[in-house]
Amino acid sequence: MAILKLRIVPDPFLRAKAKRITRIDASVQRLADDMVETMHHEGGLGLAANQVGVLRRLIVIQIPEQDEEPRVLINPEVVEATGERQVEEGCLSVPGYRGHIFRSESVRVKAQDRHGKPLKINAEGLLAQALEHEIDHLNGILYIDHLKRHEDLWKIEANEEDGVSPAPAPQPEVLTPVEVSVG
Ligand SMILES: [Zn+2]
Repeated sequence: MAILKLRIVPDPFLRAKAKRITRIDASVQRLADDMVETMHHEGGLGLAANQVGVLRRLIVIQIPEQDEEPRVLINPEVVEATGERQVEEGCLSVPGYRGHIFRSESVRVKAQDRHGKPLKINAEGLLAQALEHEIDHLNGILYIDHLKRHEDLWKIEANEEDGVSPAPAPQPEVLTPVEVSVG
């Protein structure tokens, strides 16, 4: 396994649309393993292939204290999104910033696992947020694109950045300064 180089804005890979994976071969397996290792190294909750300069539809997610094993999702797609809530979000590819945006309360995602087997996930809270964030990456979308107001984005100190507190997702009325580096 290897730690891959993380792409940082304004890297064009972050704005490109990733291609569907039609054959799950050894290179895909290796990419998944390397992405998991890179996600752990960077202290994020998730990572999309675009972020390591690969335009293939593959994401990895691991919510601390919730997912015992990292999730590897190939060709993930949001098939249903319900509700709306305000969340605090950050991105490993947009270092030094955090913002308030709106995400769905719950999502239904279909994907394939690392062996190509179809799977469905019903998610809410931080997992739903991470799924939307990472699937956005595959479409060249960053969380900062969802900002409604300029003042919803703010700078953070460098030493706050790697903090991943899987605090309960903040409710709109209780905007605690939790640190969620989704990836
Ligand atoms: Zn991200």
